[in-house]
Amino acid sequence: MRASSRTDIVGVDIGGTKIAAGYIGGGGRLVQTGVEPTTPGDGAANVAAVHRLLAHPDLDGSPVVGVSMATTMDENGALRDPHNWFGWRGVDLAELLRTDRREFVVVADAEAGAVGEAMIGASSGDQRALYVTVGTGIAHCFVEAGRPLSGAHKSAYFSGYTTPARCSWDGCDAPYVERISSGTAIARDFLGEERGDTRLVFDAARTGDRHARQIIEHAAWHLGVLIADLMLIYDPDSVVIGGGLGTGADSYRQRVAEVARGHLTVEHTRGIPIRRAGLGGSSCWAGAILVAREQCTDRAISEDAHTLISTQGRLP
Ligand SMILES: [Zn+2]
Repeated sequence: MRASSRTDIVGVDIGGTKIAAGYIGGGGRLVQTGVEPTTPGDGAANVAAVHRLLAHPDLDGSPVVGVSMATTMDENGALRDPHNWFGWRGVDLAELLRTDRREFVVVADAEAGAVGEAMIGASSGDQRALYVTVGTGIAHCFVEAGRPLSGAHKSAYFSGYTTPARCSWDGCDAPYVERISSGTAIARDFLGEERGDTRLVFDAARTGDRHARQIIEHAAWHLGVLIADLMLIYDPDSVVIGGGLGTGADSYRQRVAEVARGHLTVEHTRGIPIRRAGLGGSSCWAGAILVAREQCTDRAISEDAHTLISTQGRLP
């Protein structure tokens, strides 16, 4: 049997630096089939990259594609893309990508990652799961019984835009937390370049660079406080930290969790587990597959995905 005949719904994750595609394969295995770089501000190049990834023989026959998008959509489905990072501001991406033989379901990445982790990842089995994604930006999504809370304006994910808590650092005047604690903020503050490689900052900190250490500690402090606040607001069974930086930099995630616990004065909230995303770099495209499945109930999801979900007992 051709793989594509088993994968009715496949997934694409469009992130700030790269675009990845994959499917849920035999026994619920997550199979990533390819990665392409994101082209800053060039919508046509990014559309072409998505179609190139979907031409992979394992994905080619799929009639439905779940797309995780590293921005949000308004109530009418138009992408917000506020800095025109992808060249798609105001665009209906599902419409733009649609072909004669393919439908697209576009989901905000925070929601896709949250659903992926809640159904088949690090918080599977939990009724109420809070997911925080930390990478190019910062966002969160709360999932209850498999259903993501999306809000009145499809923007119940905007924790990155909340005002920073009072800290003791000199000259801390960022307008919102994402400007301090995201990968782009850390890169900008140390390298002077938003699109710089955040790993260079962590490397410098490891070899004793005081400035790099201060930037990372300050970033971890603000993110930890933010997560503590979210834990008090949502009272989840578990918290999962995902995203490129959230899963890639263990020391950062661990420090963030430590700061969060240190700020929680409510005892039972302090005991809520804070975990690393279990699906790693695949949570967004895998979650987009699961969301697309919910929205395309007339289409069959692959037997393997069904097996995986029912095994996990997470069918909403
Ligand atoms: Zn500060």
